[in-house]
Amino acid sequence: MLDEDFVTMNKQYVFDTYGRAPIMLVSGRGCRVMDSKGREYLDFIGGLAACPLGHAHPKLTEAIAGQAGRLIHVSNLFYIEPQIRLAKLLVENSFADKVFFCNSGAEANEGAIKMARKYFHDRGQHDRYHVVTMENSFHGRTLATLAATGQSKYRRGFEPETPGFSHVPFGNIDALRNAVTKATAAVILEPIQGEGGVRVPPSDFMQKVRELCTETGCLMILDEVQTGMGRTGKLFAHEHFGIAPDVMTLAKGLAGGVPMGAVTAVDGVASCLSPGTHATTFGGNPLAAAAGIAVLAELLKDGFLEQVTSRGEYLRSRLKDLALQHPIVKEVRGLGLMMAIELAVPGAELAAAMREAGVLVNCTAETVLRFLPPLIVSEDEIDEMIGKLDGELRKMGGARKP
Ligand SMILES: *Cc1c(COP(=O)(O)O)cnc(C)c1O
Repeated sequence: MLDEDFVTMNKQYVFDTYGRAPIMLVSGRGCRVMDSKGREYLDFIGGLAACPLGHAHPKLTEAIAGQAGRLIHVSNLFYIEPQIRLAKLLVENSFADKVFFCNSGAEANEGAIKMARKYFHDRGQHDRYHVVTMENSFHGRTLATLAATGQSKYRRGFEPETPGFSHVPFGNIDALRNAVTKATAAVILEPIQGEGGVRVPPSDFMQKVRELCTETGCLMILDEVQTGMGRTGKLFAHEHFGIAPDVMTLAKGLAGGVPMGAVTAVDGVASCLSPGTHATTFGGNPLAAAAGIAVLAELLKDGFLEQVTSRGEYLRSRLKDLALQHPIVKEVRGLGLMMAIELAVPGAELAAAMREAGVLVNCTAETVLRFLPPLIVSEDEIDEMIGKLDGELRKMGGARKP
């Protein structure tokens, strides 16, 4: 069947919710993916940060295949060995005492919001359900996480809005201080805003949020759906800031591309979700949990995260070189292998041109080109991407030097 047939069938049979690039990817290995016509691409989108080990990683493939051959799913009516093992690994390597598994980032954040409400309800504070989040944030597409998301464009048409949410400018501690009241159950934020354009907060912001939450008694919930699982060179991005949240949500890279999310929390908070109060059919099922174990085992190998840091610094320095050459590149920002360039013009055309040139990159927040390669990306692969980007930026004009 020709590709065009699939485009027609997609239009006929699939909800038209996505703006898709005109290619169909059918296989991959490492940081490369192949389309249905046999064209190869260097993948700097990495399944939107969901493929930390790249494609067809032997350890991950083996873990999934092995588990699929034994048991894929049984439900949480029973004890699940891979789920217990993965929870133990996450707890041993984070601030958290306990883990609840679900299936996506939105679902993890939804669970965290429910938990914040239940936490104060259990303490007799029935009016303390308000949640403060950041402008420009992204927390998911369910009704509550849409309300948490600080971008009104995503909510348009889905009114009435879920009550109990307000937004303050990211990085502005005074605005947050003013917004937090006796009715505030939680502050939810990303350590680095991903979808919002890879925005890194001012250096002491996270510490100040932590202090404010501790002072006022509300919960600090970190959405590490994108920044977690080694993306920034630490297992979890908040480690860069020397603080720990009360609750942290994970998804994207957690099971290396197999759908999985998690709510992690300290004991005092986790205990409010008592038996029967929260549940999901698939959460932490044997297949996803086996994949999660394989991913975490790789990330925890000696030197792995250090390598993410050095590759991230290498990517940053190469992007900074480009910024010096091309005035159209206004800024380079990010942490580890979550990097971006801010352009003086909309970035969608450049992303399309890069794809034509054989490199997949994502345009977010209109003018931001975002780089989320698999964490195993090599310096050669970074050089190759930079070479193509340099070429495309030159074609757009505005190169200062020949
Ligand atoms: C992607 C993302 C989400 C939503 O995750 P889904 O799995 O798409 O529901 C939530 N928060 C952040 C920070 C994200 O990057």
